Amino acid sequence: TPGIRPLVAGNWKMNGLRDNLGELKAIIDGVVTPSLEMIDTLICPPATLVYVATALAEDSELAIGAQDCHWNAAGAHTGDISAEMIADCLATHVIVGHSERRADHGEDDATVARKAEAAWDAGLVAIICIGETEAERKSGETLAVLGRQLVGSVPDGAEAEMTIIAYEPVWAIGTGLTPTADDVAEAHAFIRETLVGRFDDEGAAMRILYGGSVKPSNARELMAVHNVDGALVGGASLKADDFLAICAAY
Ligand code: PEP
Repeated sequence: TPGIRPLVAGNWKMNGLRDNLGELKAIIDGVVTPSLEMIDTLICPPATLVYVATALAEDSELAIGAQDCHWNAAGAHTGDISAEMIADCLATHVIVGHSERRADHGEDDATVARKAEAAWDAGLVAIICIGETEAERKSGETLAVLGRQLVGSVPDGAEAEMTIIAYEPVWAIGTGLTPTADDVAEAHAFIRETLVGRFDDEGAAMRILYGGSVKPSNARELMAVHNVDGALVGGASLKADDFLAICAAY
């Protein structure tokens, strides 16, 4: 989208030990190439590696984020991590409402919206994920589902600087399947229209990422689609060569 700086973000999911930090170092070294000056880059390692990752990425072009946060600022929530804790680790972004969180932990739109607000309260950029299931796409409900998720998961007052929308069709995640460029264009145009309707200029300036089986071989085609302002990359972000090749699609 003209005027929007693209973002290529990696989600390592529940992968990554200290032994894998070499990949992160290679990504940090790789994103300084002048050809990547026009994009932003982000890696979201597992929570256990966020602090060491921000130390490695200090003063580099690579931003570091987390994959989830609790909706409360602190308290009796054993095993959970607050947005403030993530910010305290010097990370700048957090993914909320990933379809794996929605499926594995029963997170609904209202929960996701509260998490986005918690992220903002801690000064973090919230990457809010939405996307239809295969059954929903087959029954022609895709745009209705996206509309409902946008209303429910994106809180009032969302600002472009602190909010990123990730469109991730659930059936495309980790499957090697991707929607056609036309399908991506239709979904992203609908998301843009909905965001502009609700947030005016802020909605026009908000980044909308595509996610779901993005890899070096399809990145160029997907990133060229109108209203696609970058990618959220799962599996292919674990290897520096693949992630950097996706970044180079810009
Ligand atoms: C994701 O889960 O955010 C994702 C896009 O995964 P993958 O790239 O592996 O499909």
